[in-house]
Amino acid sequence: MRTLKVDPIVSGTVIDHIPANRALSVISIIKPNDTDVVTVGMNFASKKFGKKDIVKIEGRELTSDEVNSIALVAPTARISIIRDFEVIKKLMVEIPETIQSLVICPNPNCVTNHEDISTIFDVVSKNPVKLRCKYCERVFDIDDMKMEK
Ligand code: ZN
Repeated sequence: MRTLKVDPIVSGTVIDHIPANRALSVISIIKPNDTDVVTVGMNFASKKFGKKDIVKIEGRELTSDEVNSIALVAPTARISIIRDFEVIKKLMVEIPETIQSLVICPNPNCVTNHEDISTIFDVVSKNPVKLRCKYCERVFDIDDMKMEK
Protein backbone atom coordinates (compact mmCIF):
# COMPACT_ATOMS: atom_id res chain seq x y z
CA MET A 1 0.00 0.00 0.00
CA ARG A 2 1.22 3.47 -0.80
CA THR A 3 1.74 5.85 2.08
CA LEU A 4 -0.19 9.06 1.87
CA LYS A 5 1.16 12.17 3.51
CA VAL A 6 -2.33 13.58 3.57
CA ASP A 7 -4.81 11.83 5.86
CA PRO A 8 -7.22 9.63 3.91
CA ILE A 9 -10.85 10.70 3.64
CA VAL A 10 -13.97 8.57 4.12
CA SER A 11 -15.59 9.73 0.91
CA GLY A 12 -15.18 12.55 -1.54
CA THR A 13 -12.60 13.65 -4.07
CA VAL A 14 -8.81 13.85 -3.91
CA ILE A 15 -7.06 16.05 -6.48
CA ASP A 16 -3.39 15.12 -6.53
CA HIS A 17 -0.40 16.19 -8.64
CA ILE A 18 -1.53 19.79 -8.86
CA PRO A 19 1.43 21.97 -9.92
CA ALA A 20 2.86 23.77 -6.87
CA ASN A 21 0.98 26.95 -5.88
CA ARG A 22 -2.03 26.14 -8.07
CA ALA A 23 -4.17 24.63 -5.27
CA LEU A 24 -6.04 27.88 -4.68
CA SER A 25 -6.79 28.27 -8.39
CA VAL A 26 -8.19 24.73 -8.35
CA ILE A 27 -10.40 25.64 -5.39
CA SER A 28 -11.67 28.74 -7.20
CA ILE A 29 -12.84 26.41 -9.98
CA ILE A 30 -14.48 23.89 -7.64
CA LYS A 31 -16.25 26.69 -5.74
CA PRO A 32 -16.81 24.75 -2.49
CA ASN A 33 -20.11 25.20 -0.63
CA ASP A 34 -20.13 26.49 2.93
CA THR A 35 -20.62 22.91 4.11
CA ASP A 36 -17.84 21.30 2.05
CA VAL A 37 -14.79 20.28 4.08
CA VAL A 38 -11.76 21.14 1.96
CA THR A 39 -8.19 20.27 2.90
CA VAL A 40 -5.32 21.90 1.03
CA GLY A 41 -1.75 20.63 1.05
CA MET A 42 0.84 22.77 -0.63
CA ASN A 43 4.42 22.18 -1.73
CA PHE A 44 4.57 18.44 -1.10
CA ALA A 45 7.66 16.73 -2.46
CA SER A 46 6.88 14.93 -5.71
CA LYS A 47 9.25 12.68 -7.65
CA LYS A 48 7.70 13.77 -10.93
CA PHE A 49 7.32 17.50 -10.46
CA GLY A 50 9.62 18.47 -7.62
CA LYS A 51 6.78 20.15 -5.73
CA LYS A 52 3.06 19.59 -5.89
CA ASP A 53 -0.19 20.61 -4.23
CA ILE A 54 -3.06 18.38 -3.12
CA VAL A 55 -6.71 19.30 -2.55
CA LYS A 56 -9.25 17.05 -0.84
CA ILE A 57 -12.98 17.65 -0.71
CA GLU A 58 -14.86 15.52 1.76
CA GLY A 59 -18.35 14.31 0.96
CA ARG A 60 -18.41 15.56 -2.62
CA GLU A 61 -17.69 13.74 -5.87
CA LEU A 62 -16.66 16.08 -8.66
CA THR A 63 -18.52 15.88 -11.99
CA SER A 64 -16.61 15.33 -15.23
CA ASP A 65 -17.24 18.98 -16.18
CA GLU A 66 -15.64 20.13 -12.95
CA VAL A 67 -12.77 17.70 -13.45
CA ASN A 68 -12.09 19.03 -16.95
CA SER A 69 -12.25 22.63 -15.81
CA ILE A 70 -9.48 21.85 -13.34
CA ALA A 71 -7.29 20.99 -16.33
CA LEU A 72 -7.15 24.70 -17.17
CA VAL A 73 -4.97 25.48 -14.17
CA ALA A 74 -3.64 22.01 -13.34
CA PRO A 75 -3.20 19.94 -16.52
CA THR A 76 -1.16 17.33 -14.61
CA ALA A 77 -3.80 16.75 -11.92
CA ARG A 78 -4.98 13.25 -11.03
CA ILE A 79 -8.45 12.88 -9.57
CA SER A 80 -9.52 10.05 -7.28
CA ILE A 81 -13.12 9.55 -6.21
CA ILE A 82 -13.24 7.93 -2.75
CA ARG A 83 -16.06 5.96 -1.11
CA ASP A 84 -15.60 4.24 2.26
CA PHE A 85 -11.83 4.90 2.15
CA GLU A 86 -11.52 3.13 -1.19
CA VAL A 87 -10.65 4.67 -4.54
CA ILE A 88 -13.62 3.75 -6.72
CA LYS A 89 -12.67 5.85 -9.72
CA LYS A 90 -9.55 7.57 -11.05
CA LEU A 91 -9.96 10.36 -13.57
CA MET A 92 -7.53 12.14 -15.84
CA VAL A 93 -8.21 15.80 -16.43
CA GLU A 94 -8.71 16.83 -20.03
CA ILE A 95 -8.82 20.41 -21.24
CA PRO A 96 -12.21 20.95 -22.89
CA GLU A 97 -12.62 22.62 -26.31
CA THR A 98 -14.73 25.44 -24.91
CA ILE A 99 -15.01 27.06 -21.49
CA GLN A 100 -18.35 28.50 -20.45
CA SER A 101 -19.23 30.70 -17.46
CA LEU A 102 -15.97 29.92 -15.68
CA VAL A 103 -13.52 32.76 -16.29
CA ILE A 104 -13.95 36.50 -16.72
CA CYS A 105 -12.86 38.17 -19.96
CA PRO A 106 -9.90 40.44 -19.08
CA ASN A 107 -10.85 42.90 -21.83
CA PRO A 108 -12.58 45.78 -19.98
CA ASN A 109 -14.43 46.76 -23.19
CA CYS A 110 -15.81 43.25 -23.77
CA VAL A 111 -19.62 43.09 -23.84
CA THR A 112 -19.52 40.25 -21.26
CA ASN A 113 -18.22 42.80 -18.71
CA HIS A 114 -21.09 45.22 -19.36
CA GLU A 115 -24.13 43.04 -19.91
CA ASP A 116 -25.50 39.97 -18.23
CA ILE A 117 -23.96 37.49 -20.70
CA SER A 118 -22.18 34.23 -19.85
CA THR A 119 -18.60 34.16 -21.06
CA ILE A 120 -17.64 31.58 -23.68
CA PHE A 121 -14.02 30.94 -24.65
CA ASP A 122 -12.53 28.65 -27.28
CA VAL A 123 -9.38 26.86 -26.19
CA VAL A 124 -6.88 27.84 -28.90
CA SER A 125 -3.79 26.39 -27.20
CA LYS A 126 -3.51 23.71 -24.51
CA ASN A 127 0.12 24.10 -23.49
CA PRO A 128 0.32 26.85 -22.40
CA VAL A 129 -3.44 27.28 -22.05
CA LYS A 130 -4.73 30.16 -24.19
CA LEU A 131 -8.39 31.08 -24.58
CA ARG A 132 -10.16 33.16 -27.20
CA CYS A 133 -13.25 35.11 -26.14
CA LYS A 134 -16.25 34.34 -28.38
CA TYR A 135 -17.46 37.92 -28.02
CA CYS A 136 -14.43 40.21 -28.37
CA GLU A 137 -12.25 37.54 -30.08
CA ARG A 138 -9.19 38.49 -28.09
CA VAL A 139 -6.83 35.73 -26.95
CA PHE A 140 -5.66 35.52 -23.33
CA ASP A 141 -3.24 33.40 -21.33
CA ILE A 142 -5.09 31.54 -18.56
CA ASP A 143 -2.62 32.97 -16.01
CA ASP A 144 -3.91 36.49 -16.78
CA MET A 145 -7.55 35.54 -16.22
CA LYS A 146 -9.77 35.59 -13.14
CA MET A 147 -12.41 33.02 -12.25
CA GLU A 148 -16.04 34.07 -12.13
CA LYS A 149 -17.47 34.36 -8.63
ZN1 ZN B 1 -14.20 39.24 -24.34
